[in-house]
Order: sequence, then C-alpha cells, then structure tokens
Amino acid sequence: MIKFEELKFKTPEREIILDITNEVSKIVKKYNIKEGICRVFIPHTTAGITINENADPSVMRDISNFLNKLIPKGGGLGYSFKHGEGNSDAHVKCSLTGHSVEIIIHENRLMLGTWQGIMFTEFDGPRNRRVYLQIQGE
Ligand code: ZN
Repeated sequence: MIKFEELKFKTPEREIILDITNEVSKIVKKYNIKEGICRVFIPHTTAGITINENADPSVMRDISNFLNKLIPKGGGLGYSFKHGEGNSDAHVKCSLTGHSVEIIIHENRLMLGTWQGIMFTEFDGPRNRRVYLQIQGE
C-alpha cells in the first residue's frame, strides 16, 4: 500500500525548530506496516526538515545559532542579498537543511536511532505550514 498524509500547523516564531517525531510516528502506526518507508516532504521554500538529536535541546539550538552566524539576515561573507522580500537568509538556510527525509519502517516502528528526531526547521515564520507524508509498505 501507499498512503498520503498531511500535518498542518502554524509556526509561532520567525525561526524555530519543531520536533515532529511523535506526530509522524502516530500517523505511521495507524497502518501497522511490517516493512516499509516513510517519506517526509516539506512543500515550502523557507522551511526545511532534518534528522538530528532531540534528546539535548542545545544541539538544535547550536545548529540554529550557527546557521544565523553563517547566514545573517542581510547577507554574509561580503555578499548582500538581492531578493526583494528580504528573506534570502531563510531561502539559503532552507536549501542547506533540505526538503525531505526518509525513514525506514520496520515492525510498525520508525527506525530512528536512539538520539534521532525528525526536526521541522522554520526560518521565516510565523506562517501556516504543511508537512507531506508518503507512507509505503505492507
Ligand atoms: Zn522570499
């Protein structure tokens, strides 16, 4: 089988990293899949997705702070952004984190490592956002 599912939410701040592991896991468990795959796709140009540590929140804070040092709002490394909306920093950060992740499903469980979580990365909120899930398996 192959199924489409969607998460919808509003992000509360311009930049925030949200752990969506439990929400994704809950949806996947509905289908009772023995072997399969869950694709998580973000249909936005200023928000992304990554898998990283969700046990110690300072890890994601470090990633966020480091990206902001590397890519300040107006530009960086001697380059000034040209995009009129003023959110080029968000577009660049979004491309760096990426738009999709894939997680193996085994015995009705997302096979994430002990310290791994699925992290939605907002770079230009607050906005209404969507997360698309494609769940495939039997
Ligand atoms: Zn823009």
